[in-house]
Amino acid sequence: MLIVMKPGAAAQETDAVVNVIQKIGLRPHPMPGATRTAIGITGNQGSIDGRRFENLPGVAEVIRVTKPYKLITLDLRPEKTVVRVGNATIGGNELAMIAGPCAIESHDQAFAVAEAVQKSGARFFRGGVWKPRTSPYAFQGLGEKGWEIMTEIRKAFRLNIVTEALEESHVDLIEQYGDVIQIGARNMQNFSLLRRAGRSQLPVLLKRGMAATLEEWLLAAEYIMAEGNYNVILCERGVRTFTQHTRNTLDLASVPAIRRISHLPVIVDPSHGTGSAYMVTPLARAGVAVGADGLMVEVHNHPELALSDAAQALTPSQYAQLVGEVRAIHEVTTPIANESRLETKVA
Ligand code: PEP
Ligand code: MN
Repeated sequence: MLIVMKPGAAAQETDAVVNVIQKIGLRPHPMPGATRTAIGITGNQGSIDGRRFENLPGVAEVIRVTKPYKLITLDLRPEKTVVRVGNATIGGNELAMIAGPCAIESHDQAFAVAEAVQKSGARFFRGGVWKPRTSPYAFQGLGEKGWEIMTEIRKAFRLNIVTEALEESHVDLIEQYGDVIQIGARNMQNFSLLRRAGRSQLPVLLKRGMAATLEEWLLAAEYIMAEGNYNVILCERGVRTFTQHTRNTLDLASVPAIRRISHLPVIVDPSHGTGSAYMVTPLARAGVAVGADGLMVEVHNHPELALSDAAQALTPSQYAQLVGEVRAIHEVTTPIANESRLETKVA
Protein backbone atom coordinates (compact mmCIF):
# COMPACT_ATOMS: atom_id res chain seq x y z
CA MET A 1 0.00 0.00 0.00
CA LEU A 2 1.19 3.44 -0.91
CA ILE A 3 -0.31 6.71 0.23
CA VAL A 4 0.29 9.73 -1.95
CA MET A 5 -0.17 13.09 -0.24
CA LYS A 6 -1.48 16.10 -2.15
CA PRO A 7 1.17 18.52 -3.44
CA GLY A 8 1.47 21.11 -0.70
CA ALA A 9 -0.02 18.87 2.02
CA ALA A 10 0.99 20.18 5.45
CA ALA A 11 3.63 18.35 7.47
CA GLN A 12 1.03 17.75 10.21
CA GLU A 13 -1.22 16.03 7.66
CA THR A 14 1.60 13.67 6.69
CA ASP A 15 2.35 13.09 10.38
CA ALA A 16 -1.29 12.20 11.02
CA VAL A 17 -1.21 9.53 8.30
CA VAL A 18 2.10 8.21 9.68
CA ASN A 19 0.44 8.00 13.09
CA VAL A 20 -2.47 5.93 11.85
CA ILE A 21 -0.08 3.53 10.11
CA GLN A 22 1.85 3.05 13.35
CA LYS A 23 -1.34 2.65 15.38
CA ILE A 24 -2.46 -0.28 13.24
CA GLY A 25 0.90 -1.92 13.91
CA LEU A 26 2.57 -1.25 10.56
CA ARG A 27 5.67 0.68 9.52
CA PRO A 28 5.41 3.96 7.59
CA HIS A 29 8.15 5.06 5.17
CA PRO A 30 7.54 8.70 4.26
CA MET A 31 9.47 9.78 1.15
CA PRO A 32 9.36 13.50 0.48
CA GLY A 33 9.70 14.25 -3.24
CA ALA A 34 10.01 17.36 -5.39
CA THR A 35 6.26 17.80 -5.78
CA ARG A 36 4.65 15.52 -3.21
CA THR A 37 5.31 13.15 -0.34
CA ALA A 38 4.42 9.49 -0.65
CA ILE A 39 4.28 7.08 2.28
CA GLY A 40 5.13 3.43 1.78
CA ILE A 41 3.78 0.88 4.25
CA THR A 42 5.56 -2.31 5.29
CA GLY A 43 5.00 -4.89 7.99
CA ASN A 44 1.72 -6.35 6.70
CA GLN A 45 1.52 -10.01 5.73
CA GLY A 46 -1.73 -9.79 3.78
CA SER A 47 -3.50 -6.86 2.17
CA ILE A 48 -4.45 -3.72 4.10
CA ASP A 49 -7.82 -2.02 3.90
CA GLY A 50 -6.63 1.23 2.40
CA ARG A 51 -10.03 2.96 2.56
CA ARG A 52 -9.36 4.08 6.13
CA PHE A 53 -6.80 6.58 4.73
CA GLU A 54 -8.94 8.01 1.93
CA ASN A 55 -10.65 10.69 3.94
CA LEU A 56 -7.70 11.87 5.98
CA PRO A 57 -6.78 15.50 5.28
CA GLY A 58 -4.04 15.96 2.67
CA VAL A 59 -4.34 12.46 1.18
CA ALA A 60 -4.49 12.53 -2.63
CA GLU A 61 -4.53 8.84 -3.43
CA VAL A 62 -4.25 5.38 -1.89
CA ILE A 63 -2.54 2.95 -4.24
CA ARG A 64 -2.53 -0.81 -3.88
CA VAL A 65 0.93 -2.14 -4.67
CA THR A 66 0.78 -5.13 -6.93
CA LYS A 67 4.51 -5.35 -7.64
CA PRO A 68 6.75 -7.41 -5.34
CA TYR A 69 8.55 -4.29 -4.13
CA LYS A 70 7.22 -1.31 -2.25
CA LEU A 71 10.06 1.06 -1.42
CA ILE A 72 12.50 0.92 -4.32
CA THR A 73 9.89 1.94 -6.87
CA LEU A 74 9.36 5.09 -8.87
CA ASP A 75 5.73 5.00 -7.68
CA LEU A 76 6.97 5.87 -4.23
CA ARG A 77 9.61 8.38 -5.34
CA PRO A 78 9.44 9.55 -8.96
CA GLU A 79 12.73 11.46 -8.70
CA LYS A 80 16.08 9.73 -8.51
CA THR A 81 17.54 9.22 -5.07
CA VAL A 82 20.75 11.18 -4.57
CA VAL A 83 22.92 9.54 -1.94
CA ARG A 84 25.10 12.09 -0.14
CA VAL A 85 28.40 10.92 1.31
CA GLY A 86 30.53 13.63 2.89
CA ASN A 87 31.48 16.02 0.10
CA ALA A 88 30.31 13.71 -2.67
CA THR A 89 27.07 12.41 -4.17
CA ILE A 90 25.98 9.26 -5.98
CA GLY A 91 22.95 9.58 -8.24
CA GLY A 92 23.23 13.34 -8.73
CA ASN A 93 24.86 15.19 -11.59
CA GLU A 94 28.42 14.11 -10.91
CA LEU A 95 29.81 10.77 -12.00
CA ALA A 96 30.81 8.96 -8.80
CA MET A 97 34.25 7.39 -9.05
CA ILE A 98 35.01 4.66 -6.50
CA ALA A 99 38.52 3.29 -6.96
CA GLY A 100 41.13 1.34 -5.04
CA PRO A 101 42.69 -2.08 -4.72
CA CYS A 102 40.76 -5.32 -4.49
CA ALA A 103 42.28 -5.82 -1.04
CA ILE A 104 44.20 -3.71 1.42
CA GLU A 105 47.54 -5.53 1.51
CA SER A 106 49.90 -3.17 3.31
CA HIS A 107 50.25 0.42 4.45
CA ASP A 108 52.53 1.30 1.51
CA GLN A 109 50.34 -0.35 -1.13
CA ALA A 110 47.13 1.25 0.14
CA PHE A 111 48.66 4.71 0.51
CA ALA A 112 50.24 4.59 -2.95
CA VAL A 113 46.93 3.63 -4.59
CA ALA A 114 44.91 6.15 -2.55
CA GLU A 115 47.25 8.97 -3.53
CA ALA A 116 47.06 7.99 -7.20
CA VAL A 117 43.27 7.65 -7.42
CA GLN A 118 42.72 10.85 -5.50
CA LYS A 119 44.95 12.71 -7.98
CA SER A 120 42.71 11.40 -10.76
CA GLY A 121 39.62 12.76 -9.04
CA ALA A 122 38.17 9.81 -7.10
CA ARG A 123 36.10 10.88 -4.09
CA PHE A 124 35.73 7.31 -2.84
CA PHE A 125 38.44 4.84 -1.92
CA ARG A 126 37.49 1.17 -2.07
CA GLY A 127 39.50 -1.67 -0.57
CA GLY A 128 38.66 -5.04 0.88
CA VAL A 129 39.63 -5.45 4.50
CA TRP A 130 37.74 -8.72 4.91
CA LYS A 131 37.76 -10.67 1.65
CA PRO A 132 35.15 -13.25 0.63
CA ARG A 133 37.35 -15.82 -1.16
CA THR A 134 36.28 -18.95 -2.98
CA SER A 135 39.15 -20.91 -1.45
CA PRO A 136 39.80 -21.00 2.29
CA TYR A 137 43.53 -21.05 1.46
CA ALA A 138 43.48 -17.79 -0.50
CA PHE A 139 44.39 -14.41 1.06
CA GLN A 140 41.46 -13.49 3.31
CA GLY A 141 42.31 -9.81 3.81
CA LEU A 142 44.21 -8.16 6.65
CA GLY A 143 41.13 -7.86 8.85
CA GLU A 144 41.36 -5.31 11.64
CA LYS A 145 44.93 -4.34 10.67
CA GLY A 146 43.57 -3.48 7.22
CA TRP A 147 40.75 -1.53 8.78
CA GLU A 148 43.31 0.58 10.67
CA ILE A 149 45.04 1.37 7.37
CA MET A 150 41.69 2.35 5.84
CA THR A 151 40.95 4.73 8.67
CA GLU A 152 44.39 6.33 8.26
CA ILE A 153 43.70 6.80 4.56
CA ARG A 154 40.39 8.41 5.33
CA LYS A 155 42.13 10.95 7.54
CA ALA A 156 45.18 11.54 5.34
CA PHE A 157 43.35 11.92 2.01
CA ARG A 158 39.83 12.88 3.11
CA LEU A 159 38.52 10.19 0.79
CA ASN A 160 35.21 8.47 1.52
CA ILE A 161 35.93 4.90 2.50
CA VAL A 162 34.01 1.99 0.96
CA THR A 163 34.61 -1.48 2.35
CA GLU A 164 32.79 -4.79 2.31
CA ALA A 165 31.08 -6.18 5.40
CA LEU A 166 31.03 -9.97 5.38
CA GLU A 167 29.22 -10.22 8.66
CA GLU A 168 27.21 -8.09 11.05
CA SER A 169 30.16 -7.34 13.36
CA HIS A 170 31.95 -5.71 10.41
CA VAL A 171 29.05 -3.29 10.05
CA ASP A 172 29.65 -2.20 13.67
CA LEU A 173 33.27 -1.38 12.82
CA ILE A 174 32.52 0.35 9.51
CA GLU A 175 29.97 2.51 11.32
CA GLN A 176 32.71 3.83 13.59
CA TYR A 177 35.15 5.06 10.92
CA GLY A 178 33.82 4.27 7.45
CA ASP A 179 31.51 5.96 4.96
CA VAL A 180 29.84 3.29 2.81
CA ILE A 181 29.02 -0.34 3.66
CA GLN A 182 29.55 -2.67 0.71
CA ILE A 183 27.54 -5.88 0.52
CA GLY A 184 29.17 -8.21 -1.95
CA ALA A 185 27.76 -10.48 -4.62
CA ARG A 186 28.12 -13.54 -2.40
CA ASN A 187 26.10 -11.92 0.37
CA MET A 188 23.34 -10.32 -1.67
CA GLN A 189 20.86 -12.67 -0.06
CA ASN A 190 22.42 -12.81 3.40
CA PHE A 191 19.20 -11.53 4.93
CA SER A 192 20.46 -10.91 8.46
CA LEU A 193 23.35 -8.86 7.03
CA LEU A 194 20.93 -6.92 4.81
CA ARG A 195 18.73 -6.20 7.81
CA ARG A 196 21.70 -5.09 9.91
CA ALA A 197 22.84 -2.74 7.12
CA GLY A 198 19.27 -1.49 6.96
CA ARG A 199 19.51 -0.36 10.57
CA SER A 200 22.69 1.62 9.84
CA GLN A 201 22.91 5.34 9.18
CA LEU A 202 25.56 4.71 6.50
CA PRO A 203 24.75 4.26 2.81
CA VAL A 204 24.88 0.70 1.51
CA LEU A 205 26.42 -0.31 -1.81
CA LEU A 206 24.62 -3.50 -2.79
CA LYS A 207 26.31 -5.62 -5.44
CA ARG A 208 24.28 -7.91 -7.64
CA GLY A 209 24.53 -11.60 -6.77
CA MET A 210 26.33 -13.61 -9.41
CA ALA A 211 23.18 -15.48 -10.40
CA ALA A 212 20.58 -12.95 -9.28
CA THR A 213 17.68 -11.80 -11.40
CA LEU A 214 16.82 -8.11 -11.35
CA GLU A 215 13.85 -8.87 -9.12
CA GLU A 216 15.93 -10.76 -6.55
CA TRP A 217 18.49 -7.94 -6.51
CA LEU A 218 15.83 -5.27 -6.04
CA LEU A 219 14.16 -7.31 -3.29
CA ALA A 220 17.53 -7.46 -1.51
CA ALA A 221 17.53 -3.64 -1.68
CA GLU A 222 13.99 -3.74 -0.23
CA TYR A 223 15.32 -5.66 2.79
CA ILE A 224 17.67 -2.76 3.54
CA MET A 225 15.07 -0.07 2.91
CA ALA A 226 12.35 -1.85 4.89
CA GLU A 227 14.55 -1.38 7.98
CA GLY A 228 14.59 2.38 7.36
CA ASN A 229 17.84 2.90 5.45
CA TYR A 230 16.89 4.52 2.15
CA ASN A 231 20.46 5.23 1.01
CA VAL A 232 21.07 2.21 -1.16
CA ILE A 233 23.32 2.21 -4.22
CA LEU A 234 22.99 -0.72 -6.62
CA CYS A 235 26.14 -2.08 -8.27
CA GLU A 236 26.04 -4.15 -11.45
CA ARG A 237 29.10 -6.43 -11.40
CA GLY A 238 28.18 -9.09 -13.91
CA VAL A 239 26.50 -12.44 -13.66
CA ARG A 240 27.71 -15.95 -14.39
CA THR A 241 26.98 -17.21 -17.88
CA PHE A 242 28.51 -19.75 -20.28
CA THR A 243 31.12 -17.32 -21.63
CA GLN A 244 34.77 -18.15 -21.19
CA HIS A 245 36.26 -14.88 -22.43
CA THR A 246 35.20 -12.98 -19.29
CA ARG A 247 35.02 -13.73 -15.57
CA ASN A 248 31.37 -12.61 -15.52
CA THR A 249 29.02 -11.21 -18.12
CA LEU A 250 28.51 -7.54 -17.33
CA ASP A 251 24.79 -7.03 -17.80
CA LEU A 252 24.71 -3.39 -18.83
CA ALA A 253 21.05 -3.65 -19.83
CA SER A 254 20.30 -3.82 -16.11
CA VAL A 255 21.07 -0.09 -15.83
CA PRO A 256 18.22 1.17 -18.03
CA ALA A 257 16.01 -1.71 -16.78
CA ILE A 258 16.45 -0.53 -13.19
CA ARG A 259 15.88 3.09 -14.20
CA ARG A 260 12.41 2.09 -15.36
CA ILE A 261 11.51 0.56 -12.02
CA SER A 262 13.54 2.24 -9.32
CA HIS A 263 14.68 5.61 -8.02
CA LEU A 264 17.90 4.11 -6.61
CA PRO A 265 21.28 5.06 -8.11
CA VAL A 266 23.10 2.36 -10.08
CA ILE A 267 26.83 2.07 -10.59
CA VAL A 268 28.85 -0.36 -12.71
CA ASP A 269 31.89 -2.45 -11.71
CA PRO A 270 33.76 -3.27 -14.92
CA SER A 271 36.60 -4.94 -12.95
CA HIS A 272 34.68 -7.92 -11.55
CA GLY A 273 32.39 -7.63 -14.57
CA THR A 274 35.20 -8.67 -16.94
CA GLY A 275 38.11 -10.01 -14.88
CA SER A 276 40.72 -8.67 -17.30
CA ALA A 277 42.45 -5.30 -17.13
CA TYR A 278 42.33 -4.78 -20.91
CA MET A 279 38.51 -4.95 -20.88
CA VAL A 280 37.95 -2.65 -17.92
CA THR A 281 38.20 0.69 -19.73
CA PRO A 282 36.00 -0.31 -22.72
CA LEU A 283 33.28 -1.62 -20.37
CA ALA A 284 33.63 1.42 -18.10
CA ARG A 285 32.98 3.64 -21.12
CA ALA A 286 29.95 1.54 -22.01
CA GLY A 287 28.65 1.62 -18.43
CA VAL A 288 28.69 5.40 -18.38
CA ALA A 289 27.15 5.55 -21.84
CA VAL A 290 24.15 3.45 -20.70
CA GLY A 291 23.56 5.83 -17.82
CA ALA A 292 25.41 4.50 -14.76
CA ASP A 293 25.71 6.99 -11.92
CA GLY A 294 29.25 5.95 -11.21
CA LEU A 295 31.94 3.31 -11.54
CA MET A 296 33.79 1.08 -9.13
CA VAL A 297 37.25 0.22 -10.46
CA GLU A 298 40.08 -1.87 -9.03
CA VAL A 299 43.51 -0.20 -9.16
CA HIS A 300 46.86 -1.48 -7.88
CA ASN A 301 50.27 0.19 -7.82
CA HIS A 302 51.85 -3.14 -8.85
CA PRO A 303 49.09 -5.30 -10.38
CA GLU A 304 51.54 -8.14 -11.00
CA LEU A 305 52.11 -8.43 -7.24
CA ALA A 306 48.45 -8.14 -6.14
CA LEU A 307 47.33 -10.73 -3.57
CA SER A 308 43.86 -10.94 -5.13
CA ASP A 309 42.32 -10.15 -8.52
CA ALA A 310 45.69 -9.28 -10.09
CA ALA A 311 44.52 -9.81 -13.67
CA GLN A 312 41.78 -7.17 -13.50
CA ALA A 313 43.67 -4.40 -11.66
CA LEU A 314 44.48 -1.22 -13.58
CA THR A 315 47.72 0.66 -13.00
CA PRO A 316 47.33 4.22 -11.70
CA SER A 317 48.11 5.63 -15.14
CA GLN A 318 45.58 3.34 -16.86
CA TYR A 319 43.04 4.49 -14.27
CA ALA A 320 43.85 8.16 -14.92
CA GLN A 321 43.28 7.59 -18.64
CA LEU A 322 39.96 5.81 -17.92
CA VAL A 323 38.72 8.73 -15.81
CA GLY A 324 39.43 11.23 -18.60
CA GLU A 325 37.54 9.09 -21.10
CA VAL A 326 34.48 8.35 -18.98
CA ARG A 327 34.12 11.94 -17.85
CA ALA A 328 33.99 13.03 -21.48
CA ILE A 329 31.27 10.44 -22.18
CA HIS A 330 29.35 11.46 -19.07
CA GLU A 331 29.30 15.08 -20.18
CA VAL A 332 27.77 14.13 -23.51
CA THR A 333 25.30 11.52 -22.30
CA THR A 334 23.91 13.22 -19.17
CA PRO A 335 21.83 15.82 -21.08
CA ILE A 336 20.59 13.06 -23.44
CA ALA A 337 19.63 10.84 -20.51
CA ASN A 338 17.80 13.67 -18.77
CA GLU A 339 15.91 14.45 -21.95
CA SER A 340 14.81 10.86 -22.53
CA ARG A 341 13.66 10.65 -18.90
CA LEU A 342 11.54 13.71 -19.54
CA GLU A 343 10.07 12.19 -22.69
CA THR A 344 9.22 8.97 -20.86
CA LYS A 345 7.37 10.99 -18.25
CA VAL A 346 5.39 12.99 -20.81
CA ALA A 347 4.40 9.89 -22.78
C1 PEP B 1 34.78 -6.69 -4.41
O1 PEP B 1 34.24 -5.69 -4.89
O2 PEP B 1 35.82 -6.65 -3.78
C2 PEP B 1 34.13 -8.02 -4.58
C3 PEP B 1 34.49 -9.05 -3.84
O3 PEP B 1 33.22 -8.05 -5.56
P1 PEP B 1 31.95 -9.02 -5.78
O4 PEP B 1 31.23 -9.09 -4.48
O5 PEP B 1 31.19 -8.31 -6.86
O6 PEP B 1 32.51 -10.33 -6.24
MN1 MN C 1 38.25 -7.90 -6.31
